[in-house]
This record gives sequence, C-alpha cells and structure tokens, in this order.
Amino acid sequence: MIELKNVHKAFGKNTVLKGINLKVNKGEVVVILGPSGSGKTTLLRCINFLESADDGELIIGDTKVDFKNATSKEILAVRRRTAMVFQNYNLFNNMNAIENVMEGLVTGRKMPIGRAREIAKQALDKVGLKDKYEAYPLQLSGGQQQRVGIARAIALNPDVILFDEPTSALDPELVGEVLSVMQAVAKEGITMIVVTHEMSFAMDIAQHIIFMADGNIVEEGSPKDIFTNPKEKRTKQFLERIL
Ligand code: ADP
Repeated sequence: MIELKNVHKAFGKNTVLKGINLKVNKGEVVVILGPSGSGKTTLLRCINFLESADDGELIIGDTKVDFKNATSKEILAVRRRTAMVFQNYNLFNNMNAIENVMEGLVTGRKMPIGRAREIAKQALDKVGLKDKYEAYPLQLSGGQQQRVGIARAIALNPDVILFDEPTSALDPELVGEVLSVMQAVAKEGITMIVVTHEMSFAMDIAQHIIFMADGNIVEEGSPKDIFTNPKEKRTKQFLERIL
C-alpha cells in the first residue's frame, strides 16, 4: 500500500538518501533502525513532503507521485493519507489537548467544529487521556503530551502514521506509557512506520525491520531475521552496540 522507489535526497553536497526502495503492506508495522545520521528521519519526512526528495517515486494507495515533478495537488493528497508523530510532540502550547487534536481536522480537513470535537474526544479516549481534554501541553507530562500527539495523528484517520523517534525526548519512566499506546494503535491495524531506538518495541511489535546506514537500506527482514541472524557486518556492529 506504500511503496518508495529509488528515493534520493541531498542537502547541498551531503547526499542523505541514496536510492531507497521500500514496500509497506497495509496494517504492517515497520521499524527503521540505524545509526544517527543514516537518513532515517529524512526518509520519514520525505514520505509526507515535510522534505522534498530530489528523485524517486512514492505510491500510497492509489496516489502515485514522482518526487521531481510533484504538483501541489499531489502533495496535498499524500499529506491527507499520512500523519506524523514527532520527537518533540510539536503541540501548540496555547491550545488545550482537545483543540490540538481538532486543529488539523478543522483547518486542514475543513470539518465542522462539532464533528471535529467528537472525533478529538474519541482519539484522546483511545490514548488514555479522557480526563485531560482541557489540559494545556505545559500542564501535561512529556508522556501525556506525546499521547496527545498520537491522538492528533489517529484523529486524522490516515492510511499510515509516521513516528519519528516518538520516545527519545522522554524521561525513561515515561517511555512505557507511550509505547503501550503505540502497541494499541498497531493492534487496531493502522499501518505504522516507526523510527525508534526502542529495541523491545522493534522486537515485539514490528512485522518488518529496516536497517539503514549511510543513506542506504543495508538489510531488512523480520525481527527474528534481523535480531537473531543479521547477515550484514554493519547490522551486526550496530546491534552489538545497542543490545
Ligand atoms: P537520522 O534520522 O538517521 O539520525 P537524519 O535523516 O536526521 O538521520 O540526517 C541525515 C543527514 O542529513 C545528517 O547528516 C544530517 O546532518 C543531514 N540533515 C538532516 N536534515 C537536514 C537539513 N534540514 N539541512 C541540512 N542537513 C540535514
């Protein structure tokens, strides 16, 4: 349901993605692992056009986009099919939880306010924040803020949710609550592409692991393949350091 073909991206002379090919099936949870600077975040950001890739193709559902010649209509179509959860939550501090979740529905999707409020409440209930509708981000813990971020993504009812290191800004004791919400989202069958260093999540929840290094996909496979029987030297070295 999502396919990337030969994606290239450079920042000036620094080539960050060197021809990425990737297929993600509907309902699949894909985890992207790799050392810092290997291009994981850039790849996620190219999928929803927060960065524009220089070359390659993106197919998502029945929308097919050539990165080099993407029209604004195509970009909008892709954005409507994707939602992103950010490392630093990216919430509006002047809006309460429910307003943060409603914002994209009302301004982006032009949904009537009453309907958007209902959907926002349902999404906040799903992430365990029924009692925090009116709370402002700075009144919430980091874990709760990230759960608002996840509720905002769910509310958009996207084809895929892109998670960019969703727990790496959190104090260790708050990581578990966010991972368990992500696990619940995965159980609902929402397609997820997750950049994370949380190996337990990768092992237990992902169906497919991508290992990236230096702008390339070095190795991919099931969690069992990658964690118990990595084939490439760079994958082995990375896992030895992190596990
Ligand atoms: P990872 O997520 O694997 O840590 P990134 O995708 O964040 O890697 O970064 C890959 C490379 O791209 C790094 O060398 C980084 O400095 C560079 N990079 C990322 N974003 C930008 C940007 N907006 N401008 C210039 N260079 C960038």
